[in-house]
Amino acid sequence: MGEQLHKRRLGRTEIMVTEIGIGGLGIISKKLPNREAGVQTVRHALDLGVNWIDTARGYFDAENVIGDAIQGRDRQSFTLVSKSYLRTGSLAYRDLETSLASLKVDYVDMYQVHHVQYQSELEQVLAPKGALDALETARKEGLVRHIGITSHHTRVLARALDTGRFDTVMFPFSPIERDGLNEVYDAAKRNDVGIIAMKVLAAGKLTSVEEAIQFVLAHDISTCALGCTTTEHVDRDVAAAIAFHSLTPEQVDRLRKAEMKIEDKFCRRCRICELRCPMQIPIADVFRCEDYLVLNATYARNEYRALDKHVPDCIGCGECEIACPYGLSVNDDMQRAHRRLTAGKFEDVSVNTLRKIGIYDIARKAYFALGGRLPER
Ligand code: SF4
Ligand code: SF4
Repeated sequence: MGEQLHKRRLGRTEIMVTEIGIGGLGIISKKLPNREAGVQTVRHALDLGVNWIDTARGYFDAENVIGDAIQGRDRQSFTLVSKSYLRTGSLAYRDLETSLASLKVDYVDMYQVHHVQYQSELEQVLAPKGALDALETARKEGLVRHIGITSHHTRVLARALDTGRFDTVMFPFSPIERDGLNEVYDAAKRNDVGIIAMKVLAAGKLTSVEEAIQFVLAHDISTCALGCTTTEHVDRDVAAAIAFHSLTPEQVDRLRKAEMKIEDKFCRRCRICELRCPMQIPIADVFRCEDYLVLNATYARNEYRALDKHVPDCIGCGECEIACPYGLSVNDDMQRAHRRLTAGKFEDVSVNTLRKIGIYDIARKAYFALGGRLPER
């Protein structure tokens, strides 16, 4: 047998998790020919020793796909994680019951409060009869073993972790999106909270996959959830994680400091622009929703609809562009994102047709050369 995936301690949960896990969004990609292909991706990951499976109520059919994939497997051999967007106790508890039924299990190893964006949302979660109260009750009942929190807004996370009520924390962390770790790290270590990285490949924009995974593993985190779609993605990602351990200390140190380049400008979700926006447009979230288009357009559009404010609320003052340290044409890019996120089916059909006839990459490069941007894959 070849070399095995290494494991790390997931903070105070004391679970030993493999350094990479399966994130539940990839297996519902419209690029897969059918549902069974998603089941095979998860099974393949388990066969290769991946012991962390992450999903969410919000990922359409993903819980059911995973539920099918784990049938007949030793329940103790992997850590099963899901999450809910709902903030009140009764609704979050109901979501948990639906998760258990969809996954076809009696308990999940972890349930996470999903995507807490603002302080006001965190207050709802922490309030009496809020989502956290309900999950703590569920933990006493044996339905949940541990409780986590996830966000793309890392500033709210340190406060959440210092309540001492969360066992894990998940947020975007990659060679081009690294501020999150600085913001959360001390609070996580203070509270012995397990750190889970997501968006390691920056929603497919980082094409040096091995380097991106190894960059993340060079830091003091527990695991990373990778949105594998196919069994080939699983093979590639497992090989990258295993190969990390053959690097010299000098190579690891170089990786830790590496800043990878991407071919076009990319929103790093630093949210500096949002501090200057008089209309409180959730700019980074607009781009986050646009990134989802490549995987699942319906999911992307639902996420966009759920935002508090939308691009048409923008008054065009230009403050965001002045503020953006990465030189993004924020206003133009937001208008493009809005068009794509509200375009209905037309763009999906065009992209799928180009893919089917095998000229998508050529079309994408041509479009990019003319100043546009299409998703990588
Ligand atoms: S241009 Fe629009 S998004 Fe940018 S700061 Fe002004 S109102 Fe906000
Ligand atoms: S648009 Fe620029 S300033 Fe705003 S979140 Fe993205 S990278 Fe940061």
